[in-house]
Amino acid sequence: MAKATRETVASKARKSAPKARTGAGKPAAASRRAPTSAVPFTRTVRDLRQIVAAWRKAGQSVGLVPTMGALHDGHLELVRIAKRRCDRAVVSIFVNPAQFAPNEDFDTYPRTWDNDLAQLATVGCDLVWSPERLEMYPEGFDTRIEPKGAALGLETEFRPHFFSGVATVCCKLFTQVLPDIAIFGEKDYQQLCVIRQMVRDLDLPLQIVGAETIREADGLAMSSRNRYLTPDERAKAVTIHRVISSVATAAAKGQDTSAVVAAGRKRLTQAGFAKIDYLEVRDAQTLAPLEASSPREKRVLAAAWLGQTRLIDNVAV
Ligand code: AMP
Repeated sequence: MAKATRETVASKARKSAPKARTGAGKPAAASRRAPTSAVPFTRTVRDLRQIVAAWRKAGQSVGLVPTMGALHDGHLELVRIAKRRCDRAVVSIFVNPAQFAPNEDFDTYPRTWDNDLAQLATVGCDLVWSPERLEMYPEGFDTRIEPKGAALGLETEFRPHFFSGVATVCCKLFTQVLPDIAIFGEKDYQQLCVIRQMVRDLDLPLQIVGAETIREADGLAMSSRNRYLTPDERAKAVTIHRVISSVATAAAKGQDTSAVVAAGRKRLTQAGFAKIDYLEVRDAQTLAPLEASSPREKRVLAAAWLGQTRLIDNVAV
């Protein structure tokens, strides 16, 4: 579709769609978060469906970027991809209680609504989908997706509840928004594999797009949780990327990686990482363990604790 045509259709679609709230509109009495930017947002499935249906009627394609907010440039890059590939980009912001265990950081997870909306305005996000908890999980909600396969091992050994919570909320987000594509970061590589598997297994009618990890200048993967790091921890945090990169270099040569993994674990400990949950070379598609000599594509994945903060990272071999 030519750009001029698309813009014409877009403005028509805007006119016919129900009004999402924006900075110009009146904040709902129930909303605790004052709208501050020109990016429209909605908190009800009903309004979301009407807005997306109007776009569909106008022949527009839709890309979804699921997030928990506290946005940084890694998230914004996913939105840029959505905008390049689709007419409309929807960003969901929902801190999903179902993927946090009681001892985890659900209550303290950073919530930076105003800043999120301001950032999304700079990348042309068309709609923020930000349901309240009871809109996503109404009274009596009692269905869970239990992924196996790529979900087994790695994160699941340390956060057994996690992928069930992620898969359940993503399945709901997909059926709420009904996007053509959804974009996920390779930063959470196991999550990307689990979502791909779920979409395949359940015949969900959308395409999953993986996006490469956006890093700080020193190599640390951008993450909403990096803001938990003290300046001293922040300086040490880059070691995790250095270690997985050196394991990947050894694996690419077909070497037995057990020695370099052991050296990497030591290096992380010496750098101040208190606990290493895992540092492993896995099959890049299935995430199953594999032999060093295997010709299959490989991925190096790690999770480790720096003070109170758990960092995860991965690289391709
Ligand atoms: P989160 O809000 O942390 O759950 O992340 C939302 C989406 O952003 C997920 O698909 C993440 O993989 C992705 N993401 C987070 N950090 C980065 C990053 N540094 N680079 C690329 N994608 C990222």
